Amino acid sequence: MSRTRRAPQARRAPPPGRDPEPRALAAVVEALRHYVRDVRLHEPLWRHVTLRVGGPADVLVVPHSADELRAAARVLFGQGVPFVVLGQGSNVLIADGGVRGVVVKVGKGVDRVRWDGEAVTVEAGYGLPRLAQEAARRGLAGLEFAAGIPGSVGGGVVMNAGAHGHQLAEVLDAARVVTPEGEEVLTRDALGFAYRTSVLQQRPAVVVEATLRLRPADPREVRARLDAWLAQRNATQPIGPPSSGCIFRNPEGDHAGRLIDAAGLKGLSVGDAVVSEVHANYIVNRGAARAADVLALVEQVRARVRERFGRELELEVKLLGDFGAGAPGAPGVPRAPGSGPREPGRVPGGGPEASP
Ligand SMILES: Cc1cc2nc3c(=O)[nH]c(=O)nc-3n(C[C@H](O)[C@H](O)[C@H](O)COP(=O)(O)OP(=O)(O)OC[C@H]3O[C@@H](n4cnc5c(N)ncnc54)[C@H](O)[C@@H]3O)c2cc1C
Repeated sequence: MSRTRRAPQARRAPPPGRDPEPRALAAVVEALRHYVRDVRLHEPLWRHVTLRVGGPADVLVVPHSADELRAAARVLFGQGVPFVVLGQGSNVLIADGGVRGVVVKVGKGVDRVRWDGEAVTVEAGYGLPRLAQEAARRGLAGLEFAAGIPGSVGGGVVMNAGAHGHQLAEVLDAARVVTPEGEEVLTRDALGFAYRTSVLQQRPAVVVEATLRLRPADPREVRARLDAWLAQRNATQPIGPPSSGCIFRNPEGDHAGRLIDAAGLKGLSVGDAVVSEVHANYIVNRGAARAADVLALVEQVRARVRERFGRELELEVKLLGDFGAGAPGAPGVPRAPGSGPREPGRVPGGGPEASP
């Protein structure tokens, strides 16, 4: 069935009568503009996320260097302004109403990299796939699993991104973060990594830079492993339609995708949000999906899996913006940086995201 893609901007304009720049925010914007060149008002966030869903941020700050990022974080922490951080937006669901207050986008510009033997120090906005490819080219092993994870280094640290039985925690030495108390370097132990989580999901901190330690290896072996995992991913995951990757965390001892598939839910849809036919743990946007559609579908999937298998699925994607108190893991608005909803319940053991 052919569908016409609605222009997302048109239905995401600020509601009539809303003050476009409340006084409190105006002062923050002025302070931010002192340090950061690119500060946008009412910026549609669907443009900045892989699912292509979400309303505007009152203020979107786009630092074009690590120094601009540090300065923005200092201003916001200093003034006690709550804000959220966005990397590549590949693991988030933004509310249809957008995000009130400030969003800081960490990407292009905050992407310098320094290779030093087996170590690499890389800024938070650098892309994981690019870093994995460069490591392979240099004959450094340990990051091949990340070649198909379309996130930033910063988002990868916060999420402890992983696939094919590996995760960032295995190669991460330390992360440099800005917190309300200032700048600090957190070691791997201090980062409290577990399956798709780190302490940065529970405390306000902006990742500025990370240091990874890789292993020298035969470049042909590294390349072969990276290519094989990419091919496996291409064969088993939906490549092309907008998504946020796996929508649910894998429950202990099982895979969310297997449970959803076994419940017969592939192809289930609400509006233009659809459970992927290729990988059941993906919800894809077939054109004009709204966050409300995605959440309604999430609820249907959770209910059917609960009914059928008695298993409770928890969201892996982070909800940003105002979803109301009833949403699964709703974070309220706005949240401290790096903190999506705190995931209730226990943390299951890791498993390859690339598996069903
Ligand atoms: C097609 C597809 C495939 C995927 N496959 C995988 C996979 O195999 N394995 C996997 O683990 N994930 C996968 N993902 C999910 C996603 O790519 C990862 O979770 C990634 O690590 C998120 O990085 P990001 O930069 O996009 O972060 P975002 O989605 O922008 O943000 C994620 C969280 O991190 C916080 N954050 C981001 N940057 C910073 C920063 N600099 N400082 C502080 N907080 C920050 C945000 O506030 C948010 O809470 C996939 C996604 C897609 C779309």
